[in-house]
Amino acid sequence: MADFVNELVWSHSRARSFAGCRRAYWFAYYGSWGGWKDDAPAEVRDTWVQKKLTSRAMWTGTVVHGAAEYALREVREGREAVAVEDAVRGAVAGARRDMEGSVSGAWLARPAKRVGFREHYYDEPEEAGAWTAAIVEIERQVRALWESRPFRRLHEVPERIRELEELRRFPVGDVDVYVVLDVMVEDGRGGAVILDWKTGSHHAEEEIAAQLGVYGLYATAVLGLPADRLTAMHVNVRHDTTTKHTVDAAAIESARERIRSTTAEMRSKLVDVAGNVAAREDYPTLPAGDPQCGGCGFRGICGRR
Ligand code: SF4
Repeated sequence: MADFVNELVWSHSRARSFAGCRRAYWFAYYGSWGGWKDDAPAEVRDTWVQKKLTSRAMWTGTVVHGAAEYALREVREGREAVAVEDAVRGAVAGARRDMEGSVSGAWLARPAKRVGFREHYYDEPEEAGAWTAAIVEIERQVRALWESRPFRRLHEVPERIRELEELRRFPVGDVDVYVVLDVMVEDGRGGAVILDWKTGSHHAEEEIAAQLGVYGLYATAVLGLPADRLTAMHVNVRHDTTTKHTVDAAAIESARERIRSTTAEMRSKLVDVAGNVAAREDYPTLPAGDPQCGGCGFRGICGRR
């Protein structure tokens, strides 16, 4: 099998990582590269394993997104709608398996496929009842999603679902960009609605608007949809709110400019731009004692356990 090539492909999450701790960015996109190989050096393997770690809060969102994707795929492919009780049962059973595999360490046999929690890997002190509360929250959010108007509406017009958690890659200027839209649905009038599920307790509106702008860029540049026929909705399942965002020509242009400028900055740090080679010493750590380190997945390999 041919080796994968480590390319600099822009994504919203990569840009966010670059804006944070530079050493964590280096670990995520360079230091962990190839860690999945059987013959990977121990340090590279450890970095890759730590890249795969999730937290209880992030995982809650992943489980709810997974339930939504499964249900929408079923109806889009013409199968029966998933009843809410079945969705809850499936999500909770999967969540319990994830927790057991992480506690026992079984996930380390297949870190790319199974779930490992920072809380277990770093043996963090646990708040009593935190895991039970997470399961309760997953159940609550799955029920809230099934009740939400946008989710119910998708079940009425499954043939109009155009994108559903598919990884897409497309060129923007001289860089390729990855996007994964939670859902894009045709509105039946030549336009489309981009839906983004959010599950966390806090999401900055500015951040969401920037992400939706990139999706708008994809919809216009790749799918050929007119910018004035796009609507974006951010559905917060935790708080049961739906917020409409404008994805107009200005928002799309701003996304294009952000991709251009952040890519130029990322490239300026490379020792070999054509080969996408980055030297660890060019990506500094945060000052010792920075509170971000306490929640960082790479704190082991970084020496800040
Ligand atoms: S432990 Fe701190 S300094 Fe090290 S990568 Fe993580 S955030 Fe950066």
